[in-house]
Amino acid sequence: MLIERGAMKVGFATLETMAGGPPGADITYLLPEAESAVSFAIPLNKDLIRPFLAKELPNGRADHEQDNIETNIKAWRLAKVVRDYLREKGYKAEAVVPNNKYREDVPGWQASLPPELSLRYLAARSGVASFGWNGSVGIKGFGTPIIVGGVVTDAKLEPTDPLPPEESFCNKCKLCTKVCGYGMFSDEEETSVTLGGYTFSYAKRINKLRCVLVCGGINGLHNSGQWSTWSPGRYDNPEDDYEVNRLITLGMTAQPKRPLIKDHSKGYNPASYGDQGKIQLTCGNCNLICWGDPAETAKNYKILKNSGCIIQKEDGEIVVLPPDKAKQEFEKMPAKHKRLYYKDYKKKIRKKEKTTPGVMP
Ligand code: SF4
Ligand code: SF4
Repeated sequence: MLIERGAMKVGFATLETMAGGPPGADITYLLPEAESAVSFAIPLNKDLIRPFLAKELPNGRADHEQDNIETNIKAWRLAKVVRDYLREKGYKAEAVVPNNKYREDVPGWQASLPPELSLRYLAARSGVASFGWNGSVGIKGFGTPIIVGGVVTDAKLEPTDPLPPEESFCNKCKLCTKVCGYGMFSDEEETSVTLGGYTFSYAKRINKLRCVLVCGGINGLHNSGQWSTWSPGRYDNPEDDYEVNRLITLGMTAQPKRPLIKDHSKGYNPASYGDQGKIQLTCGNCNLICWGDPAETAKNYKILKNSGCIIQKEDGEIVVLPPDKAKQEFEKMPAKHKRLYYKDYKKKIRKKEKTTPGVMP
């Protein structure tokens, strides 16, 4: 039923096969009587990914964003189709919201972002997909631009096995770590999760708030200064968690004040939180570049690296320029406007360290 409706793969996990994992692996959180879970993956439209990575104006960002949102909605709808089918058969079942739904009962959930059920764990353990170095799950020959969905149920379904190593799509090229503006992933260190006797490993997340800063749109400039995401933020790379926290506070005040684009022939607003509360995609690079084929992934990396830097004019218009030109044009902007995208937020910390040595962690 799922395959007929566009799923690339479908698999099944059980209480036993998900046992021993972290809270995100708990299939009973959404349904205390759950015995099994259904996992499936559907593809994003790759035709819209390269214009997004290339920062093609005016529609490169909005077209991929629309596809991304619609694919998430499709995953949710498909999950509900399965849920309703199982309920008609007399079983209990709950569909899992595919994104942006977190366990708010976990202390500090805003920073750790624990999902109600990790659809990645479910996909990896049921053999729908495997982990890449980026921590996304992907499929051989396609890579990581997929959205995974799931359903939990008290029906006792036959579990499917994880994919064997030869079916992995990841060759550890680590290009996914290079496309993260604030380097959220470790290049070397791994983290692992064990589910039902199988251990899965991927790059350690240095601090998830680094992604919040970049993917959330506060900052866009890559720490090399040579290209940006769709966000016009130009803050210096935070060196440690203290600076990350400081920049979050600063950025969340500045970002909503950025001007909105009213004329969409000039592009679509790249802010994440200021635009009437709408979330807008400015990054996702680590996931989008990996196409499960080294040559295609390298091409995506090249497109992104050469895509230039975004700056935003006072009337909201966004412009893409080569890095040096973007820097020059930004410098010419009025100080009040510049403060919405850049501030030497480290100055105060340095000053404090000078007057009170040891204040910095
Ligand atoms: S870009 Fe893809 S193939 Fe390369 S290390 Fe990252 S996940 Fe693996
Ligand atoms: S989505 Fe962007 S900011 Fe977040 S981890 Fe991936 S590359 Fe980094």
